[in-house]
Amino acid sequence: MPRVHNFSAGPAALPECVLKEAQRELLNYHGCGMSILEMSHRSAQFSEVIQDAEDTLRRLIGIPQNYHVLFLQGGATLEFAGIPMNLMRTGRAGYVVSGNFARLAWQEATKYGTAEVLASSEDTNFDRIPDLAPVAERAAAGDLDYVYICQNNTIFGTMYHELPDCGSTPLVADVSSCFLSLPLDIKRYGLVYAGAQKNAGPAGITVIIVRDDLVGAGPALACCPSYLNYRTQVDKNSMMNTPNTFGIYLCGKVFHWIEDTGGLHAMEQRNREKADLLYGALDACTVLRPTADPASRSLANVTFRSPSSELDAAFVAGARERGIEGIKGHRLVGGMRASIYNAVSLEDVKVLASYIEDFDRSHRSL
Ligand SMILES: *Cc1c(COP(=O)(O)O)cnc(C)c1O
Repeated sequence: MPRVHNFSAGPAALPECVLKEAQRELLNYHGCGMSILEMSHRSAQFSEVIQDAEDTLRRLIGIPQNYHVLFLQGGATLEFAGIPMNLMRTGRAGYVVSGNFARLAWQEATKYGTAEVLASSEDTNFDRIPDLAPVAERAAAGDLDYVYICQNNTIFGTMYHELPDCGSTPLVADVSSCFLSLPLDIKRYGLVYAGAQKNAGPAGITVIIVRDDLVGAGPALACCPSYLNYRTQVDKNSMMNTPNTFGIYLCGKVFHWIEDTGGLHAMEQRNREKADLLYGALDACTVLRPTADPASRSLANVTFRSPSSELDAAFVAGARERGIEGIKGHRLVGGMRASIYNAVSLEDVKVLASYIEDFDRSHRSL
């Protein structure tokens, strides 16, 4: 079985060269007589691995010294709690509800303080990023601990094409599904975080980049679990307990792969080319229709549908015959979703685009 065209939303495609390198090193890491999977997280070799992963990420994004980098576990979901527990110092934050993960983050935050909904696109089933003017207006009052956004909405296929103007209120962003797919101006944020399994590595790692003043002397809530205490994790270099060593090792390799293939600007160019090709094919269709509002289209998750669930199922089945996998949409939107993360090549996207054209043509008269 050859490798498929993998459009999975996450865990998702990884660069083949990264997988091969890990395979080569698996039994005997750099001649030290054991696997990276078998060695202490306190060993000299692993200390080098985690330091190199952080250094490479800092170079890629251009992370200033007053921001910390953490590699934690628990997925993006655990940070839905970790963020309010650490940052809700006066007990009030604002949330933009632009999709399912943003809504989950907001719901979780309501357990720990007042989480205001500043804007929402729920009334149009999250087909767009809501108008951000009320967000800027509310942030200007200066009484919010932070403003929270989910920058790319993985399930609904929308993304922010500009950030809300929050003035001096820290902006917190879930960038799980757009992390490292385009440059990130980190100075505009107080905190960004990403589950790695979309674009940066395997499942089981959450990368958190947080400004030093927000970490402060400790979390906002005294009941914050030690594991979620950003102050402790910063001081312990993400190793207050055993980290996901293999995950950090693989993320480091993905970071190097991005650097070796031209960095984030080059990655953005390739991703735009892939997205343009796919949206172009869909816009020319009559049976298949893209579902996201054109002004809010995601660069990473392309959502579309046919007029019926039967035809959607036929599309997915036909895709499988061409070696196209991971294309079924999330149950909340139905239809299809092609996730075209960094490791999905232009060739993969060409195969999908030509299938879309064929499918549309052969179903037009039905
Ligand atoms: C996948 C995803 C999540 C959930 O991540 P987990 O690691 O499963 O907790 C949250 N936010 C976004 C934007 C995602 O794409």
